[in-house]
Amino acid sequence: MKFLPIFLNIKEQPCLVVGGGQVAARKIFMLIRAGGNVTVISPALSSEVAKLADKGEITHVKAAFKAGDVGDYRVVIAATNVREVNQAVYEEASAKNIPVNVVDTPDLCTFITPSVIDRDPVQIAISTGGSSPVLARLLRSKLETFIPAAYGRLGQLVESYRDRVKEIFNHNSNHIRGFWEHILDGSIADMLIAGKDKAAQEALDQAVNEAKVPDNIGEVYLVGAGPGDPDLLTFRALRLMQRADVVVYDRLVSAEILEMVRRDAEFVYVGKARDKHAVKQENINELLVRFAKEGKKVLRLKGGDPFIFGRGGEEIETLMEQGVSFQVVPGITAAAGCAAYAGIPLTHRDYVQSCMFVTGHLKDGSVNLNWSALAHKGQTIVFYMGLHGVKEICKQLVAHGLDSSTPAALVEKGTTPQQQVHIGDLSTLPDIVDNTEILPPTLIIVGDVVKLHNKLAWFEPSGAKPLAYPVSN
Ligand code: SAH
Repeated sequence: MKFLPIFLNIKEQPCLVVGGGQVAARKIFMLIRAGGNVTVISPALSSEVAKLADKGEITHVKAAFKAGDVGDYRVVIAATNVREVNQAVYEEASAKNIPVNVVDTPDLCTFITPSVIDRDPVQIAISTGGSSPVLARLLRSKLETFIPAAYGRLGQLVESYRDRVKEIFNHNSNHIRGFWEHILDGSIADMLIAGKDKAAQEALDQAVNEAKVPDNIGEVYLVGAGPGDPDLLTFRALRLMQRADVVVYDRLVSAEILEMVRRDAEFVYVGKARDKHAVKQENINELLVRFAKEGKKVLRLKGGDPFIFGRGGEEIETLMEQGVSFQVVPGITAAAGCAAYAGIPLTHRDYVQSCMFVTGHLKDGSVNLNWSALAHKGQTIVFYMGLHGVKEICKQLVAHGLDSSTPAALVEKGTTPQQQVHIGDLSTLPDIVDNTEILPPTLIIVGDVVKLHNKLAWFEPSGAKPLAYPVSN
């Protein structure tokens, strides 16, 4: 993030604009709309700004900017076409720690103004961090088209009930939010959008009068978050992610995906690095039960699919025993995601009839698998958690009858901007792993279909760095 997004209260606060042309006019209107007391310093004014001065909506100082003019304004904007003047304004304001913006000159700004969708009191501000105002405007026009103007009226309508609803629910934020979600997502909002303001007002009045503390207990959403690319989430996953009071997640769930969880949910990391269970499975199960019994909507977010090497079964068994209601949302498992993004179809009529998903996790230094069932030509084998056992895996497959030239791929951080596909065969893959810096998670795919990668690879990862932390956290 290049800038911290905030909304500034400038109601009745002194604001300074240096310059009185058309560019300045846009900023002056914006400050007036937010309730600022605007002073404009400029030897001349455009006709638009002159009208504001005539009506007394701004104070006009008919002079050029000079040292000392910055005074103790709360916000300063320079919009002259003389760089030296803009620079002088910037230097004086920033020396006094007054937020200053020089229009279209990012290096002379301590704040920038976003592109705004105004549905007062609802405001959506878009910024590209100064890199492309045109892109921000384009995005704005897209959003404008599907955010009905009625949202402003909806905001005004609910504002007058806020305090009463807080009282009714004894300031319990989960209950308050549940009530408003129900209202804002339902027929009352539809009525307003359809222009039936009076009916909406009556319906809301009735809903508030009938509101009472719910006696329902919470619920657990066991949700598969897919292999990494946030675009691979299901609609249901996204919907539940935005409804959660608390999210319990582990290492496989990327910051990009956590970004999409409801912002003020509580985030609980129960990360599991290999062989290091930060929180033991029994404790995770208990945690889910405890949160749900507190009446919370608990999002248990897991990489890939919760029922494929995800211990999802164990978690819901405990919920079942404890009478906690839950739902399970499948996700795209790593095998499907990595195969697709690496251009390696897991089945193909010319090569294979079956595909196996197995765990390559080493127990006591050996991979405890039915090797003779795996080592078949005409079968694709996908190893989850196989990185550390790769040598043993390749050795055993050859020992049980596969040709050492059987193609094998290791997909690193599949479906993410950092994806890498390492191609070899059963004899070379262990060396490739030894000689390359490889970051988890990785998936190993063994079988003739791996040959198709050369022809079918289509995904070009950007190489962009992953987000370190979700904004919401
Ligand atoms: N439930 C998950 C699997 C959990 S086991 C699923 O359905 O995908 C964890 C293993 O999944 C990792 O060790 C790795 O083998 C694999 N994995 C998960 N995400 C991956 C990714 N983006 N790229 C490569 N392998 C991945």
